[in-house]
Amino acid sequence: MRLWTTFCLSCGRVLGEDDGKMVCREELERIEGIETSPFRCRHCDQRLPFATKEGLCYDCFSRFASGEVFLERSYALFAYEGLVKRLYQAFKFEERKGALEDLVSLAERKKTEWFSRLPEVDVVTVVPSHWITVWKRGFSPVEVFWRRFFSHLQGDILQSKWRRKKQKTLSREERMREIRGQFWVSKPQEIENMRVLVLDDVFTTGSTMEEVARVLREAGAFEVYGCVLGRDPFYPG
Ligand SMILES: [Zn+2]
Ligand SMILES: [Zn+2]
Repeated sequence: MRLWTTFCLSCGRVLGEDDGKMVCREELERIEGIETSPFRCRHCDQRLPFATKEGLCYDCFSRFASGEVFLERSYALFAYEGLVKRLYQAFKFEERKGALEDLVSLAERKKTEWFSRLPEVDVVTVVPSHWITVWKRGFSPVEVFWRRFFSHLQGDILQSKWRRKKQKTLSREERMREIRGQFWVSKPQEIENMRVLVLDDVFTTGSTMEEVARVLREAGAFEVYGCVLGRDPFYPG
């Protein structure tokens, strides 16, 4: 039994037993996984407005053109927009446990089909936040979410340096430059010659995932894959 009345974050109706914790069942069922989009980037799952010859999104196309690609591929559960975005922000910034439960149940629903897309890996880890950030927030949202699906994930393989500038205020180009040198591998012995899957929350330009892949490969990883809750659907032009 619900102890107090909760309203759907999206349509405002009162939630009952069969609904999600913060969103009604109908709205949750409307949210489609990114794999249902007909055209997606073959490198990062970005939803594309049309089929492109290269099969790449704008971000990946420019990265491949510059020649420095260390990440094998990145997978996304959802496009980072609408309710998925609102739920994740409610969990991350307001610590709304119900939002986490709704996201987990969304992901649970497609567990079998979706998780079968992921490659076989030896090690599962996460993109780290600086310890001060985690300490101030009291938890790591990325790790808490993904631990529900990868109980064996190793959260201490990568470390992050303190970042002065907030990534949000940077342009796409600045973001790609700023991220260089942001991470280091604190347990190289754990990933040597291994296939590594790195989990994160949002894939925006891919610069974070790519930088993480670079340091892991330099530390001896055999292959690096990424997997995120949401791919930012921004598409220029
Ligand atoms: Zn609703
Ligand atoms: Zn892409």
